[in-house]
Amino acid sequence: MKKHNFSPGPCILPQPVFEKASQAVLDFEGSGLSILEMSHRSKEFVAVMENARSLALEHLGLRNKGYTALFLQGGASTQFLMVAYNLLESKAAYLNTGTWASKAIKEAKLFGELVEVASSKDANFNYIPKDYAIPSDVDYFHCTSNNTIFGTQMKKLPLTDVPVVCDMSSDIFSRQMNFSKYSLIYAGAQKNMGPAGATLVVVKDDILGKVSRVIPSMMDYKVHMGKDSMFNTPPAFAVYVSMLTLEWLKDQGGIDGMEKVNNTKAELLYNEIDRNPLFVGFAANEDRSPMNATFNLTDEGAKDHFDSMWKAANINGLNGHRSVGGYRASMYNALPLSSVQVLVDVMQEAERTA
Ligand SMILES: *Cc1c(COP(=O)(O)O)cnc(C)c1O
Repeated sequence: MKKHNFSPGPCILPQPVFEKASQAVLDFEGSGLSILEMSHRSKEFVAVMENARSLALEHLGLRNKGYTALFLQGGASTQFLMVAYNLLESKAAYLNTGTWASKAIKEAKLFGELVEVASSKDANFNYIPKDYAIPSDVDYFHCTSNNTIFGTQMKKLPLTDVPVVCDMSSDIFSRQMNFSKYSLIYAGAQKNMGPAGATLVVVKDDILGKVSRVIPSMMDYKVHMGKDSMFNTPPAFAVYVSMLTLEWLKDQGGIDGMEKVNNTKAELLYNEIDRNPLFVGFAANEDRSPMNATFNLTDEGAKDHFDSMWKAANINGLNGHRSVGGYRASMYNALPLSSVQVLVDVMQEAERTA
C-alpha cells in the first residue's frame, strides 16, 4: 500500500509522474526505446531537455528576462563551490541559517573573503535573523530560502543592490516570489522537483564573466550555457522526471495554485502542533516553513507510543534530523492534503490515548 510519505528528500513525487516515468522506462513515447537507453543527442531527448529548461523559467516568471536554466549534476552541494568559483572575486556576504548555509560558507571560503552577515546558530537555527546589513562592496549575497533541517523559511528578501544568490533546494516551486530579484537560484531536484541526480541552476546571464580566475570547464556556468546544458552527458532520466513534474505543476495552476494547497496543508498541521499538549513546535512561529514542519514531544516518555501509532498508520519519513531530534513532517508539493489529515488524526489519537 502506498505510504503517506513525509520524507525530507528524496521525497514524494506526484503519482501520475511515477506512472509516466515507469512507462518511459519501458518505451519512451512509442519510440521503441527506453528513456534509459536513448542518446542524449537524439531529437527526442533534446526536446525533453529544452522543455524542462523552458518550463522551469516559465514557472518562475523568468522567460525572456535574461536568465538561463541549466540542469547540472553534483547536487546543491556542488553549487556551494560552483557559485563561488564563478562569482567570488574578492568578497561575498552570507547569511547563516542552518546546516546547508554553513556548508555553503565553508566551500566559498576557499575562494575569497567571506562576511557572515548574521547567524542563528546561537539558538540551534530555530529562527531567521532579520536585522543585519549587507555590505555594498561584496560580489554577491548568498542566502538559503528554506532550511530543510530546522524547518524555517525566509519570508522576505533583504533589500540590497548587490546580486543575490539563493539556495532554494527545499522550497522552489512551492510559493510565489519575485524571482527576478535573484541573480542566481539553485536547487537539488530531489526536494521538490524530481528525483536525485539533477540540480536546477537559474542564472542571470549578465552576472557571469566578472572573475579573473581560470574556471575548469565543468565548473563554468558559461560552458554549460554555451552547450544548452549538454556539455557532457546530462542526468537524462532525472531531467525527464523533473520535466514531468513541472508539467504536473502546470496542471495544478502553477506556483500560485500550488502555494494555496501548501498553505492549507501547513495550517492544518501547525494548528494541531499548537493545540495538542503532547507537542511543541521547534521553529519560531513567524519563520515556520510550510515545507518542513519541525516539532518535538513535550514529554519524551510518549515517544514509543506515538512512534508505533504513526508507523501503524502507514506514515513514512517522520523522524527529525539528528541535530533537532523529535519529528519533521516534510510537506512538499506532491504530498496530498489527505496525508496531512492522517498525521493530524494520529496526533489527536495519541493525545486521547496518552
Ligand atoms: C538537501 C539540501 C542541500 C544538499 O543537496 P544535495 O543535492 O544533497 O547536495 C542543500 N541545500 C538545501 C537547502 C537542502 O535542503
